[in-house]
Amino acid sequence: MSDTPFSQTLSLPDEAATGRLALRLGALLRPGDLVALRGDLGAGKTALSRALIRGVTEPDAEVPSPTFTLVQTYDTGIGPLWHFDLYRLSGPDEVIELGWDDARAEAVALVEWPDRLGPLLPADRVEVELFHDGPDARRAVLTGHGALAARLAAADWTL
Ligand code: ADP
Ligand code: MG
Repeated sequence: MSDTPFSQTLSLPDEAATGRLALRLGALLRPGDLVALRGDLGAGKTALSRALIRGVTEPDAEVPSPTFTLVQTYDTGIGPLWHFDLYRLSGPDEVIELGWDDARAEAVALVEWPDRLGPLLPADRVEVELFHDGPDARRAVLTGHGALAARLAAADWTL
């Protein structure tokens, strides 16, 4: 049963809607979970991550994009959280050096450009793919794979 992914398309008419999606998502994550964030440059992967991280830390928390550092770590109300941007990753070996195994063992991982993980991408995961739908509008395809399918299916995604 958990082999069937749960998938839902959500309309995000403005950035506030993306923020609401982020809060819903943050509320059901726990250490060991991974959220793969897909979409073109400017689609809103960092904006969604920032809203999610602020929702589980402080509303005005500093949340820099990990574009250059590749990873930023946080202590949050749902445990440690590691925010990755793997665009500049040379290959899966480099993410191991960043502490990937520790992140997976004890933290929530938010991963922009998850295709860079290659075989390290876990089967149990949440996928959020963001598409431009206008200057401030986006569409999100939210998918729960493996053990995350049932958890996502049980939540209310009315934004
Ligand atoms: P990415 O990380 O996918 O490259 P960013 O999150 O850095 O993209 O940038 C998204 C940009 O789009 C931000 O400037 C954000 O303010 C803007 N934006 C406008 N509307 C939305 C929306 N509905 N959801 C997310 N971001 C939006
Ligand atoms: Mg980004």
